[in-house]
Amino acid sequence: MPDPNTPEPSEVREIRINPIVPSESVLVATARGMRPKKAEDLAPRDTRKHVETCPFCRGNEHKTPPVILSWPAEGEWQIRMVENLYPVLGDDREQAGFNFGLQQTIDGYGRHEVIIDHFEHGIAIHDMAESHLAALFGVYQTRMRQLFESDERLKYVLVFKNFGPAAGASIPHTHSQVIAMPVVPENVDAEVKNSAAYYAKHHHCIFCALIDEALTFEATIYDRNSGAVRRKINVGQYVVERGEKFIAIKPFASRYEWEVHILPLTHQADFLDVPADDMADLARVMKRTMARLDAVIGGAQYNFFLHSVPHGGSDSKHGVPHDMARGEYAASYHWHLEICPRTSIPTGFELGSGLFVNTINPEQAAERLRAVEL
Ligand SMILES: [Zn+2]
Ligand SMILES: [Zn+2]
Ligand SMILES: [Zn+2]
Repeated sequence: MPDPNTPEPSEVREIRINPIVPSESVLVATARGMRPKKAEDLAPRDTRKHVETCPFCRGNEHKTPPVILSWPAEGEWQIRMVENLYPVLGDDREQAGFNFGLQQTIDGYGRHEVIIDHFEHGIAIHDMAESHLAALFGVYQTRMRQLFESDERLKYVLVFKNFGPAAGASIPHTHSQVIAMPVVPENVDAEVKNSAAYYAKHHHCIFCALIDEALTFEATIYDRNSGAVRRKINVGQYVVERGEKFIAIKPFASRYEWEVHILPLTHQADFLDVPADDMADLARVMKRTMARLDAVIGGAQYNFFLHSVPHGGSDSKHGVPHDMARGEYAASYHWHLEICPRTSIPTGFELGSGLFVNTINPEQAAERLRAVEL
């Protein structure tokens, strides 16, 4: 018999501190009255296989900017990488900096490229073959390496994907994007710095510690006054999917209801260091995780992005306070893929407070994702 004094586990209302970036907190508020988000119908995504007028569909190759690489190299392409027609960062021409008082700029040089993930127009990740997904991760890695090697001013290569109109995809054909930047994005920088500080204190990687916790953590939370059991936290409750080399976990301080992170099980700072043989397991964990998300949400629209250790040296010229010799962070940083399904639209409360609001208890969300039969 459940103790009637034990509140429903669904009624959680607490501010959770992101263990890696403590300045980033999440209000987990699951009681109905706390739901600040308007339930809006998100625009449906395009699921067609081939669209005559789509520049990314086969047969329309002449409509895209120049091709950078394609896979396989011979025969009909399955994955194709092209330059972006509307780059947010320009080419490598250095521009005269605009610096006036408090208005400081950094040259917008860099690269912005598009990866056509699959020849099929509206195919979802979980419907792609594992071998195809493994090749896609291989393309990400190849291009990251080429970009870092091409220009030492590039400090960060961000690989990301917007899928579905709710996630800001402007072209419905499934694609990822690569942006190479002369600066390290602030959120990555915060992760890098905070995990280095944790390492200095505890002599081990905080991401590895979180994986261990996700796999083994067990705790009982008692009521402060009555001493009654309030909540039990079970073994492996944050694990969504586990492969041989990779794991998908639900972050304790998830910003988004269905946010899931994929990490290598053994320590690795740089996505460039993933051996080709491991890509199949990464693809399998990714495919199964996306299938779980899709089953629970019903047509997942999401953003995902790769966070890997930055490259390049310190750059005092631009006032970037980094010393990004990657060796320095090789022991403390741990690359990961953050998957953020978009099931709601942020409100003024979130934008104004900087506090993310999550209306589903992450432990329960993980349980629902695990329960999906694949
Ligand atoms: Zn298309
Ligand atoms: Zn680690
Ligand atoms: Zn991250």
